[in-house]
Amino acid sequence: PARLHLFSDAAEVGAVRRALLAWYDSCKRELPWRALAAEETDVDRRAYAVWVSEVMLQQTQVATVIDYYNRWMEKWPTLQALAAASLEEVNELWAGLGYYSRGKRLQEAARKVVSELAGRMPRTAEELQRLLPGVGRYTAGAIASISYGQATGVVDGNVVRVLCRLRCIGADSSSPAVLDRLWDMANVLVDRSRPGDFNQALMELGATVCVPKAPLCGECPVRQHCHARRRVRRSPDTSCANPSSREGCTAVGGCPLCPPATEPWDSSLGVTNFPRKAAKKQPRAARAATCVLERRGRRGAPRYLIVQRPSSGLLAGLWEFPSVPLPLGLQEEKQREALAEHVQACTGRPVAAGGLRYVGEVIHIFSHIHQTYVVYSLPVDEDATLDPAPSPSRWVTEEEFHASAVSTAMKKVLGA
Ligand code: SF4
Repeated sequence: PARLHLFSDAAEVGAVRRALLAWYDSCKRELPWRALAAEETDVDRRAYAVWVSEVMLQQTQVATVIDYYNRWMEKWPTLQALAAASLEEVNELWAGLGYYSRGKRLQEAARKVVSELAGRMPRTAEELQRLLPGVGRYTAGAIASISYGQATGVVDGNVVRVLCRLRCIGADSSSPAVLDRLWDMANVLVDRSRPGDFNQALMELGATVCVPKAPLCGECPVRQHCHARRRVRRSPDTSCANPSSREGCTAVGGCPLCPPATEPWDSSLGVTNFPRKAAKKQPRAARAATCVLERRGRRGAPRYLIVQRPSSGLLAGLWEFPSVPLPLGLQEEKQREALAEHVQACTGRPVAAGGLRYVGEVIHIFSHIHQTYVVYSLPVDEDATLDPAPSPSRWVTEEEFHASAVSTAMKKVLGA
C-alpha cells in the first residue's frame, strides 16, 4: 500500500516539475547566495558559496542569515581564506547565530579540502558526504545539485512538510522508514536538467507557501497534485484515516506511511494533519552560576573579565563570564561558595562568597538544554592585579565584549 503514496506516474512527475520550476522562476526570493552562485564561474568557489549558505541556514531563519552570510563571504571569499582563519575569528563572526559547532566544523572541513584535496571540492553528493566532516546527506545534495547540476534530491524540514502533504504521509516523519521514502520521492521528483533550481523551488515552497501553520493552498503551484488538499475538499468531515480515493492509500492499518490508527485524520486541522512527528524530547534542565567581574577605573569605561571555554563540547572556544555548573537543587549559599571558589581559581586572588552580589536569573534555551544562569556581580579595584588565569582570559569594555566570540546567552547575562 505504501507504493500508493509515491509518485509513480511519469506524467504527474513531469507536471509537478514544470509547475514548481515555473513558479520558482517568477516568485523566488532574491538572496545573496543565489546571486553569488549564479555569477560565479569557478566551480570550487561556487560550491563554497553554496556550502556556507547551507550550513548557516540549518535551523536558522533566512532573514537572520543574510547579514552573517554577507560578512562571512566578504571576509573569507574562498576556501583558502577560510582555511587560513583562526577559530577565534570564525567564532567572532558566528557569535549570535547559534549552534556554534557549525562554524567550527565548516572551517575544519575547509582546511581538509585545502590541505588534503588540493583545494578542489569533491564533485558529487556521495563524495562530499564521504570526504567532508560535518557534511551530511542534505548539505551534500544541496551543494552537488546547485553547484554541479547533479540530479540528486534533497530532504530538509520544508521538503518533508511539502511531500507529506502532497502524498498524505501521516506516519512519524522523523522515523527512518518514512525518511527513506521521502528521499526516494525527492530523487524521483528532482528535475534532470535543472536539479539545483528544482530543489530550491521545493524548499522555497515549504518556506513561503506550504508553511507549517496556515499554508496558502490557494496560491500553491502544485495544488492540483496535492492529496492532502483533495482530501480536505472532497471529504472534509470524514474521520477515516485512509482515503479510499483513486490516488490515496486504501490500506486500513498496517500501512507504514499512513497516520497511525490511534491518531486518525482530524478534520479540524485540514492539510496540517501532515506531517506528523513523534513528540519532541523535553530539553534537559541545567544551572550555572556566573560572575560579572567589573573593574571600574576612575577614568574610562568599565571592563569585564571574560574567559575562554574549552575547545570541545558545548559553545566550544567561545568566551564567557567565569561560570561554574551547579547541581540542580543546590542551596543559594552553596552556589555562592562554588562560584567564589571558581572565580578565585580564574583570577588568582581571594574571593569571599559574601562579596558576590546576586543580580538575578537568566534563562536561555539551547537546542537540547534549558539553561538557567544565576548571575552575580563583583566589583574589583582598577589597581588590582590578577594572576594569569589557568584558561585564556581578558578584560574587555562593553563594546569589545559585544565584538568578541560570545554567545547570545552571555549577552543576556550582561544585560541582566
Ligand atoms: Fe501544501 Fe497546500 Fe500546496 Fe498542498 S496545496 S502542497 S498543502 S500549500
